[in-house]
Amino acid sequence: MIRSLLLVCTLSLLFAPSTLAQADIPINSKWLSDRVLVTWACNHFQGTNMAVVVTEQGLVIIDTGLSPSTVRRQRELIESELGRSDFRYIINTHMHNDHAFANEVFPDATVIAHQNSVVALEREVESIPELLERVRSSRERYVAWAAETSPDSTSGIHAREGVAAFDVGIADLEAGIEPRYPTVTFERHHTLRLGDVRLELFDFTSFHSDSDLLILIPEERMLFTGDVFWGGQLPFLREETLDRFPQVLDTWKTILEESPDLTTVVPGHSDVPLAVEDFRGMYHYLSRLWADVTAAREADTPLVRFLMQNTFKERYPEVADYSYIRREYNLHQHNIYMLWQLAGG
Ligand SMILES: [Zn+2]
Repeated sequence: MIRSLLLVCTLSLLFAPSTLAQADIPINSKWLSDRVLVTWACNHFQGTNMAVVVTEQGLVIIDTGLSPSTVRRQRELIESELGRSDFRYIINTHMHNDHAFANEVFPDATVIAHQNSVVALEREVESIPELLERVRSSRERYVAWAAETSPDSTSGIHAREGVAAFDVGIADLEAGIEPRYPTVTFERHHTLRLGDVRLELFDFTSFHSDSDLLILIPEERMLFTGDVFWGGQLPFLREETLDRFPQVLDTWKTILEESPDLTTVVPGHSDVPLAVEDFRGMYHYLSRLWADVTAAREADTPLVRFLMQNTFKERYPEVADYSYIRREYNLHQHNIYMLWQLAGG
């Protein structure tokens, strides 16, 4: 009995499809409101959230993706869902390859992004050879993972989706992408009015990259955050753009004040947990930490004493359950050092 079961199992493993064709990578979509549809590739492997905002004066795409081949399929889905193809703008939340390399799929749309975005995208394009190396080695890890998992299990599907997504990404990068650079840029704030919908774009370059922006759609009570936040993990201040932090904190306050009824935050990827409460809680954490650090500096408190007195869980209850250690690095201490430096001039 056991023997025949084993035989059946072995045979089913032998004949089960061990790979996923690129055309079979699932393309998903979800209406977030009457006017906003989000699409992404894969069910388990991480996809980039590409959204479309439907307005009287044309369609606005928020972020594209790394692979033009996959984004072309997302575009087809949008066109058949909406019955229109008047893509007027692309807004990139930032210029990392997995958010902006597929801008070419919408050749007629005007690209809007942060002032630093042209240089940021040039940098991404220059580093395609290194990116290809990284993607190829990730693919190898996923191939090994796929070999040791059943194609029917969640991890087996995840692994196979990953291999297929890496394959299509590698093929697209090898074929060469045609970068589409922003032609409308701004430094701090930009308003885009399109008849019945208004999009407010805010500089938010203190955390993930030097080209991050947040997009608020007041009518939809919706906020797009790109890769800036990951619910459940402490936000992490970027040393290179530290001097912008006080201004970004003011912007954060403005967004919260302008949208007390915010109901949806849309992160940059399909598998990122993020709720409105996370967005509020992280603001309270960082604004209080900034006030604590500046008060301690004014009182000439030594850093060692501040670190000893600053008990994380009691002082910042909104983020008490968040993980604050990443790759053996203490994110809370990092934030304190950054703000200490900033408050000291
Ligand atoms: Zn990113």
